[in-house]
Amino acid sequence: MNEEKLNEKEAGKPPVSFIEQIIIDDLKAGKNNGRIHTRFPPEPNGYLHIGHAKAICLDFGMALKYGGKCNLRFDDTNPVKEEIEYIDSIKEDIRWLGFDWEDREYYASDYFGKLFDFAVDLIKRGLAYVDDQPAGVISEQKGSPTRPGIESPYRNRSVEENLDLFIRMNKGEFEEGSRVLRAKIDMTSPNMHMRDPIIYRIIKEPHHRTGDKWKVYPMYDFAHGQCDYFEGITHSLCTLEFEVHRPLYDWFIDQLRTDEYRPRQIEFNRLNLTYTIMSKRRLLELVREGRVSGWDDPRMPTLCGLRRRGYTPESIRKFIDLIGYTKYEAINDVTLLEHAVRDDLNLRAPRVFAVLNPVKVIITNYPESQTENVELINNPEDESMGSRKVPFSREIYIEEEDFMEDPPSKFFRLSPGKEVRLKGAYIIKCNGLKKDPSTGRIEEIYCTYDPATKSGEHQADRKVKATLHWVSVKEAVDAEIRLYDRLFNHEDPAGQKDRDYREFLNPDSLKLLRNCKVEPSLKSAKPLDKFQFQRLGYFCVDYDSTEGHLVFNKTVGLKDTWAKISK
Ligand code: ATP
Ligand code: MG
Repeated sequence: MNEEKLNEKEAGKPPVSFIEQIIIDDLKAGKNNGRIHTRFPPEPNGYLHIGHAKAICLDFGMALKYGGKCNLRFDDTNPVKEEIEYIDSIKEDIRWLGFDWEDREYYASDYFGKLFDFAVDLIKRGLAYVDDQPAGVISEQKGSPTRPGIESPYRNRSVEENLDLFIRMNKGEFEEGSRVLRAKIDMTSPNMHMRDPIIYRIIKEPHHRTGDKWKVYPMYDFAHGQCDYFEGITHSLCTLEFEVHRPLYDWFIDQLRTDEYRPRQIEFNRLNLTYTIMSKRRLLELVREGRVSGWDDPRMPTLCGLRRRGYTPESIRKFIDLIGYTKYEAINDVTLLEHAVRDDLNLRAPRVFAVLNPVKVIITNYPESQTENVELINNPEDESMGSRKVPFSREIYIEEEDFMEDPPSKFFRLSPGKEVRLKGAYIIKCNGLKKDPSTGRIEEIYCTYDPATKSGEHQADRKVKATLHWVSVKEAVDAEIRLYDRLFNHEDPAGQKDRDYREFLNPDSLKLLRNCKVEPSLKSAKPLDKFQFQRLGYFCVDYDSTEGHLVFNKTVGLKDTWAKISK
């Protein structure tokens, strides 16, 4: 989506959140000389998921709407877990969502020098010290929210000794884990984060951008707020778990700043979805353990997975708009996300015919050599999408489940002696069938058609109780179709005490149908093309698809369970 358009569209909307209201108030008060500057700060240690989209839409959305800027900043403070692959995927996904950071692509590692200098400055001012104790002891001494911490025996080292040790830590003279640099704040603070937090640790792994220049790396908590400050961020929007870190971030900025300016951190609730895992660490486990085909497996809540599944950026932005931003942790119903994509695809996806489980129908009174093209409109929601011609002939496929030899009284589809309409074509009547004698499986269904009932012509309104989709045998194109169910069969797979989330993996989350038939207009469909298979749902062409071997992913069914719930 074009940025200008988004801007135009966004501009007319009323404030959507308490955060937006704060921004409006800050602008009115002339804070930061009317500047709005946000950032999206992913750690490149995995692919982005739909939770990140919530942060992205806010960070970039607010900047767009209020004439500000939004930086992309990779929080690459931990060389052990970070990879270039993730950086590239993150950029691709943000662009796909419709946002642009222009030339403002930054890295926490851009500021390693400044951060190091700041740490040295803190040491010189007696506000930081090197602790030689192992991590376990330091953490033990931190106490608990109800028990004050204990001061480290190294807490009152001289400035000279601290400086010397810190510089030698960075030269690589000491082993990883043997020493850390801590801020000297308050071991009795009711806020655990203020109890002399670790701000630098030794890591001897090379960094993807700075190589082996550094042997000490800042902790996320020491880097994040300062990076915001260095970049002139006005509104530092983040999720609720950082609320308790805010006093620490403020403490650092108080030591650093030279004037009134400081980034204002505002926290909002994370996105959690039912039946979904939303943690990069766990998503990485699913990928590494081969429980899904990759980060972009269409069952994954990653943006690349949703894209492959057939979600559009518009549908994701719409969903994010619907759920909004609050101060309370909650879990959103995944059917609302499905509702959003269904709503969006309803307007843009052409309707086509596909038969997932084909059974052959032979129309015995239709001339054998004849094929006629019937005209079908592509989308009743949008006339401008036009129409197409679909071949109809003596032999067609219909859905196996649309026929019953011996139906119950409420079955209105095809059965012996009964009539149905073939959508866009004729009314047919079933007169017989042929079964495989050994399996009892129906092989062919025999029907006759009534030439006077062609859709759109004079007798077209004759009443029948069902209209079926179909594909002409001669022109049918073979397709493989992948049906998905939820990856987890528990509403809150990660939240069950003493149970591993993997116990709730749904063993039936993927079903492959290899013998499907689709209408010939789909022959040259390209990956990510989206369609409504009539009566079946929304489907999207997979990357594995070729012209000789079409592969579709089911995006979502037609039945809107959300609309039902919300009624
Ligand atoms: P995860 O917990 O899934 O590993 P993270 O928070 O470690 O994610 P980051 O790369 O640090 O991932 O996140 C970048 C930004 O995205 C942060 O500002 C974070 O607050 C936000 N974010 C991450 N997960 C969510 C979520 N579920 N809902 C809303 N925002 C999120
Ligand atoms: Mg994080």
